[in-house]
Amino acid sequence: MIDEPIDPDDRAEWLVEQGRVDEAITILEARARGGDWLDVDRLTDLLMENGRVEEAEALWRAAIEAGLPRAYGGFADMLADAGRTDEAIGGWRAAVEVGEPRARARLAVLLARTGRVDEAITEYWKAIAAGEAAAGVRLAKLYARAGQLDEAARAYRSAIGAEGVSRWPLGVLLEKLGRVDEAVAAYRAAVDAGEGHVRVRLLAAQGRLEGATQLVRDMLAEPGHNSSYRRLGWLLTEQRRFEEIEAEARLLKDGNLVGLSYLLSGAQQSANFHEDCPADCKGSVRVVRYLPECR
Ligand SMILES: [Zn+2]
Repeated sequence: MIDEPIDPDDRAEWLVEQGRVDEAITILEARARGGDWLDVDRLTDLLMENGRVEEAEALWRAAIEAGLPRAYGGFADMLADAGRTDEAIGGWRAAVEVGEPRARARLAVLLARTGRVDEAITEYWKAIAAGEAAAGVRLAKLYARAGQLDEAARAYRSAIGAEGVSRWPLGVLLEKLGRVDEAVAAYRAAVDAGEGHVRVRLLAAQGRLEGATQLVRDMLAEPGHNSSYRRLGWLLTEQRRFEEIEAEARLLKDGNLVGLSYLLSGAQQSANFHEDCPADCKGSVRVVRYLPECR
């Protein structure tokens, strides 16, 4: 009996580890009665893991009946986990109806995952209109995947200012659209908001490639930034500083082949790299007009 935890949470977990699932369920049942939706969630998860789907479902239905906050969403999650997607979508719609927090965004995620993109887009915009501004980030991703960059930028802009939302990705979208002035403004706002790593993007978007190159070199002087060689390769090639690339390549060849491959693929992402190429050369990587991602 040594080391048997007494705290109900720990004890339930410990009992599961011992294979004493029924005893764990008894403890969690006591907690779920009069507890919050997280207790019900924990209990139903355990029931599901042990194939007791009907009991789990009955518990959520009872919780909904009892008016437990967020019970609709909890049930919808369970249904989605069980692969019952249509029912889960209905569950999230019900959660929206009763005003559960972030229910619209969750509904939209599930719709998108199911391939119902138009419906997802509608729900995301409704979520944004209802004050869930951060939903704009996911909506922007959805648009971007569909190649609708204008809409992606519009969606992302609506998320700016929401808690935990970075400003710089808006700049990337605008650069891809060729709206450079707006991109510069977005990057500057990001830097002003404390997103310090965006400084190099800001300089590059402004065409201040020398300054951007210096920042990248400073970064490379510190460990852990090997993938930044891609940016160095692109920046130097954009400036036709080919001798520096060759010098850099010679240094990397003797001890940092990964860095070398980043450098060369970054160089190939600059149009200047392909000037003497045959007309049908597309290189192994896509040519870009803006600073590439460092990955
Ligand atoms: Zn080429």
